[in-house]
Amino acid sequence: MNIKMVRMASYHFKCRDTGMECPYEISARKAEDLIPKIVAHEKSEHGIDEIGDDLKQRINGSIKRRFF
Ligand SMILES: [Zn+2]
Repeated sequence: MNIKMVRMASYHFKCRDTGMECPYEISARKAEDLIPKIVAHEKSEHGIDEIGDDLKQRINGSIKRRFF
């Protein structure tokens, strides 16, 4: 287990990657921090009140992990 790698990891999300015409991008240290922000964005910007399984999968598939 490489502690340094874990500490440096961050998660990036581009709304565009879910198929939206949207420039929204966000990054966070933990995926758990990212999800509620993405959900809030979907609600406020795209009027999606409930995130269905299809969108959940697209969001999950769009979150990219980076190590630096
Ligand atoms: Zn968006």
